[in-house]
Amino acid sequence: MRYISTRGEAPALGFEDVLLTGLATDGGLYVPESLPHFSLEEIRSWRGLSYSELAFKVMYPFVDDAIPEDDFHTMLDETYSVFAHQSVAPLVQLDTNEWVLELFRGPTLAFKDFALQLLGRLLDYVLEKRKQHVVIMGATSGDTGSAAIEGCRRCEHVDIFILHPHERVSEVQRRQMTTVKGDNIHNIAVRGNFDDCQRMVKESFGNQSFLGGKTQLAAVNSINWARIMAQIVYYFQASLALGGPDRSMAFSVPTGNFGDIFAGYLAKKMGLPISQLVIATNRNDILHRFMSGNKYEQHQLEHTLSPSMDIMVSSNFERLLFDLHGRDGAAVKLLLENAAKGPVSIEEYRWKHARKLFDSDAVDDKTTCDTIREIYEQNEYLLDPHTAIGVRAARNCRRDKAVPMITLGTAHPAKFPDAIAESGLTIKPELPAHMADLFEREERYTVLDNNIAGVQEFIAENWKNT
Ligand SMILES: *Cc1c(COP(=O)(O)O)cnc(C)c1O
Repeated sequence: MRYISTRGEAPALGFEDVLLTGLATDGGLYVPESLPHFSLEEIRSWRGLSYSELAFKVMYPFVDDAIPEDDFHTMLDETYSVFAHQSVAPLVQLDTNEWVLELFRGPTLAFKDFALQLLGRLLDYVLEKRKQHVVIMGATSGDTGSAAIEGCRRCEHVDIFILHPHERVSEVQRRQMTTVKGDNIHNIAVRGNFDDCQRMVKESFGNQSFLGGKTQLAAVNSINWARIMAQIVYYFQASLALGGPDRSMAFSVPTGNFGDIFAGYLAKKMGLPISQLVIATNRNDILHRFMSGNKYEQHQLEHTLSPSMDIMVSSNFERLLFDLHGRDGAAVKLLLENAAKGPVSIEEYRWKHARKLFDSDAVDDKTTCDTIREIYEQNEYLLDPHTAIGVRAARNCRRDKAVPMITLGTAHPAKFPDAIAESGLTIKPELPAHMADLFEREERYTVLDNNIAGVQEFIAENWKNT
């Protein structure tokens, strides 16, 4: 499988290089040159497969000659055995033909584990083969950092440095990062805010001389193709569990960077009958505004009760724009250069096509809380604020009650106790048993000043081969 850039100028790459590359050299994102397509008959034959067997069927065409079949099977078995549910992604029923797909049974209690548990193993495999080492450097305001650390804890060829803003992440989120043991894991609390952390990471990628040429930086943020690839699988899994592919499904997806829902769009293009895809956003609603009025315009960032969806621009949306423009990289490049300067629109017929592919809704904090309370009162089932946004959008946008509506449950409610309290419920969401001692575990992190030279010196001195 070859991968091409959405901006049309960077060289095409194979799977291994795409794995190790963040942005393409032309500033674009990598996408497969062509998608595998599965017939209904083939999809039907996957009924009854375990999650990891199904993951092999769906993903192997993207990997093909980069990894032998047996090795990939082993890797997937290991990846999905760390989830605390035998089915990996269980479905919970909310109402007649309405479901939540629980994607939060992994080690860090959010759906990002599906991709990052696999990404860590893929990286280590490829680096072992190439006799290379990388330093993963990332900034986090919450879920990504802990999922990346968990995903890389056993990697021999990876050191991981995660920057978080000192005293500005929730205690659960901080502890999920700082209590993971491993001498390749390094948590840095920066005396600054999330933007400061992100800026240091960006600048370090731009100039890696502080590593002295002995290793190189790698990225694990959501533009990494392998993360999207891993997220396609659970659309197939949920559909098969509810009678697919002989019935079509609707999905509602709590959306930030557009990675998770883009995976659903790909599942549909690969042959899975999906009749509706709902983009569910919080007040940071650039995608909902675009879908409603064909105007793509950045607004100020708003802090909401669903922090993992607090972003101004959705980086993976570029991958959809590429398809909407007939895979014309030059057109995408021009559009996004203009979008950086001010509001942009796309041709009417292209926008109409986008509206056929997706419905959308934006949900504010009050409605998020109302939804958490409502579902609890109806079912004694507790939603986290991100999933609540998905459920609300699903109910607002639903077109056909005969089609199962599945909301992706992106996080465990115990990760976001503040939102639960704000909803007026007096119950406290409990951490799952395997994490019940989180508050007793020993933490390890280093507090550094908001100064890039100091942070880079710390990294140069602490990755393990120095
Ligand atoms: C990351 C995240 C999202 C947003 O997913 P995208 O792929 O960025 O759209 C939603 N909910 C939770 C809990 C997350 O951690």
